[in-house]
Amino acid sequence: MAGRKLNAQFFDFLAAVSILPLVFKIQSLRATITDTTLRATLQKHWSFSSFRSIQLPVIKSFIQNESCLAIMPTGTGKSLCYQLPSLIVDAPILVICPLVSLMLDQCYQATKHGIRALSIHSGMSSVEKAVAYQQFGDGKCDLLFVSPERLEQASFIELLLRTTIAGIVIDEAHCISQWGYDFRPSYLKLHQLSEMKPDAPILALTATATQRGAADIIRLLSVSNMRLIRKDQQRSNLRLHITKLDDKRGYILNHLDRYCATIIYVRSRKHVEVFSDYLQSQGVNAIPYHAGLSKIQREKNQALWFSGHRQCIVATNAFGMGVNKNNVRQVFHYGIPPTIEEYVQEIGRAGRDGQIAECHMLYNQKDISLDRFRERQIIDWQGFIDAISTKSLNVFRQNKLQSLMSKLGLDDTDVHKNRMLNQVKLRGLRTLFERIQQPKLDHFMHMYTYIQLSSCRHVYLSHYFNHEEVSVCHNCDNCINLSSKMLQQLDKAEILSLIRSLHSIKIDDVISKFSSYKRRDVLRAISELYEEELLVCQDHMIYRKDVF
Ligand SMILES: [Zn+2]
Repeated sequence: MAGRKLNAQFFDFLAAVSILPLVFKIQSLRATITDTTLRATLQKHWSFSSFRSIQLPVIKSFIQNESCLAIMPTGTGKSLCYQLPSLIVDAPILVICPLVSLMLDQCYQATKHGIRALSIHSGMSSVEKAVAYQQFGDGKCDLLFVSPERLEQASFIELLLRTTIAGIVIDEAHCISQWGYDFRPSYLKLHQLSEMKPDAPILALTATATQRGAADIIRLLSVSNMRLIRKDQQRSNLRLHITKLDDKRGYILNHLDRYCATIIYVRSRKHVEVFSDYLQSQGVNAIPYHAGLSKIQREKNQALWFSGHRQCIVATNAFGMGVNKNNVRQVFHYGIPPTIEEYVQEIGRAGRDGQIAECHMLYNQKDISLDRFRERQIIDWQGFIDAISTKSLNVFRQNKLQSLMSKLGLDDTDVHKNRMLNQVKLRGLRTLFERIQQPKLDHFMHMYTYIQLSSCRHVYLSHYFNHEEVSVCHNCDNCINLSSKMLQQLDKAEILSLIRSLHSIKIDDVISKFSSYKRRDVLRAISELYEEELLVCQDHMIYRKDVF
């Protein structure tokens, strides 16, 4: 099987080792792989002549059996880091993936490069699943995509234990960490993978992780000697605007360029529907996207947007993971994302072609009220205990409680039947509970600081993620405001000093002397000086103040 994968020299090599045990074969094969071989595979299957970003060190680490966490900016080819090794190693690679849609897309993309990719997910019939189980068990695939929840099923665990695999990939690894934005409890059990498959290297991939998030991922995976390879990138082509106002709809209508690819993020499914209807009523060809739409509708809407038949998509955060469209020019946030990580992921979908893209976040006083945030989002431990004993919460918080309970692995009917949990279970739960609740408040405070910032936003984000020192961007709202203020002051001071040196001057002469500025700006500066009573204007002439 590996014969089809590599250049001729490997045919001989494989023939020589084919009588040896499979595990030995894989490790020996890995030991001989050079950069030249990797580049040849890249050229053959992708027609690229060189690797991008940190792809090469990540691939080499994986192939050399080292576990690693790779943090790479979106759009720098994360998938290739496991797709290419899957063409070289001689057993399947298991890929843990958070969403079925992402799984299917990755499968499709891999197949285009000659990779035998399979997925097992809840949308398949039992016959289809049985066939996939068989193919994976027989080693007749290169990549197998599953969700983390699949790893909790006894039949899959049994299959995994008896199947030789070459490695494990955890895609979108920020989902593991409560410092990421999409915390899911099944991810907490991924540490069992290294116990089940101690010889398989683990490659965790993500686009955004702070130092704290990265440490959390490594800790929760319980892999000893996990390497961290990261590539930071300043996305200074993203123009960041943050605006406090109540009329968010009006702002978006005014700023939306309806001929450019646009994503508008709102925070609930219902709001997606309401706002896309509103935009349609205003003549914008907007389409909705959220997890409550049927699968067919979601795929249809995504395809319409992706192909450019519709430019504007109104979506919840369910939209965007794995979507690689490089000419998105605008991202709007109708409200505050819950974490800086999520915000950066979402604005990172704009301007992947390196051209300027506009990112607007809109908020009002309610959005940044700490009291309101606490009231809606945070349930303290005592409140939790009281609530499950008495069901005393309002509907909104009751829903929050339900989702919190499911994250904690609590059965709703169980709790309501018994009303109180036993003490032993409570102690264990409390640790888990605090691990889920506390970061929410921390995230809110970081977001609050970011919004209130008066200095460069790119510099703040770069510090937040512990990236290398970056210079001010001249491209965020704060930098732009600062430079336009400076320009205006310079303008006015120079005009004033020119006029003070003369008795009088024609307005047109002032305009031509300041020809590097726009005529409109010079006129505005003159009129401001006039209003400030620093000069006098009469009959197209400007006079020194003391002349009159
Ligand atoms: Zn800036």
